[in-house]
Amino acid sequence: MLTEMQVLERLRNLRDPEIGRSLGEMGMISSAVIGAGNSITVTIDLPTPAYPRQERITAAVTSAIRESMPDAGPIEISFISNVRGKMSGGSIGLRAKNVIAVGSGKGGVGKSTVAATLAFGLKSLGCKVGLMDADVYGPSIPHMVGSHGMPVAVKHTTATGEEIERIEPVEIDGMKVMSMGYFVKPDQAVIWRGPLLHRAITQFLKDTDWGDLDYLIIDLPPGTGDVTLTLSQLLGLAGAIVVCTPQQVALLDAIKAISMFRQVKIPILGLVENMTGEIFGRGGVRKKAEELGIPFLGELPIDAGIRIRGDDGRIASLFSEDNPSRGPLLGMCEQAAMQLAKQLLETPRMPTLEIL
Ligand code: ADP
Repeated sequence: MLTEMQVLERLRNLRDPEIGRSLGEMGMISSAVIGAGNSITVTIDLPTPAYPRQERITAAVTSAIRESMPDAGPIEISFISNVRGKMSGGSIGLRAKNVIAVGSGKGGVGKSTVAATLAFGLKSLGCKVGLMDADVYGPSIPHMVGSHGMPVAVKHTTATGEEIERIEPVEIDGMKVMSMGYFVKPDQAVIWRGPLLHRAITQFLKDTDWGDLDYLIIDLPPGTGDVTLTLSQLLGLAGAIVVCTPQQVALLDAIKAISMFRQVKIPILGLVENMTGEIFGRGGVRKKAEELGIPFLGELPIDAGIRIRGDDGRIASLFSEDNPSRGPLLGMCEQAAMQLAKQLLETPRMPTLEIL
């Protein structure tokens, strides 16, 4: 007679195909149930719904059981997922398991496009995601996601009877979006002084009703600067993604951005090569990532479809089944989520408030 313990014991040391750690160490075996005729149902708890090619786990678990337990009946593997995270916004009341910043060394490389793509891609894979546009100097997210509404202030009474005001973000296809672009006219230039900027970013994080999120994606201004410093003081960011184009000049700028993140102790999740193709070339970013010992999260093709969808406010439609560039875009989202899961296992928890 097979026992659940035997099955769990057999699977504990099996390697997870994506991260290379044991399923036991990753806390991925939720349960093993033995039924009539020695049928076995194993439930695997993935660290993110964005876990790529889950069928590899099905194959590995099934063959491990088959090889070591000849009496086993039908085997069924099912999946659940619970996004693991640092809950890094605890001290300011932000209930996001992972806050990811998307940055670049300079403007125009597709940073906002990648931030919006990451948000809608992770959402299309089943994650709870919010998108915050902190690119205060050129807030393009409202246009890209095609939003017309405005965030509204709503009064709430707390359990202690205190009246507080919370900002309801704009909701696009079920995703909460916040941007400075909602508060300034498109043709209005805003000069941000340090304290004002700090206050605006704090309000975006603290007074906005984001709800419970698996991932909050933040689109940073290009280059190095104040917003990143403010974020690093307010939260323990889960990590930063640096976007660059394949050519050498853009790479040099990206290296500056990487060194800034390192200075403020924000872990680098990886580099993304955007606009890969005949015009700018290909592979430069992957090579640089290898040299720097930073994960490479993927190449996104230069594609008129990406530009048109962004310009028309239909960036979410990049994940409709008929979009030919959907594959590489989803691949980048999966790699980013997996890097986070991996870093969670490897790095000690960051302090929630860092005094610089
Ligand atoms: P950044 O935030 O770095 O300034 P954006 O995301 O605003 O850059 O992108 C700049 C322009 O390039 C936009 O018009 C956008 O639609 C376009 N773009 C971005 N990525 C791609 C791509 N992979 N293929 C084609 N056009 C792109």
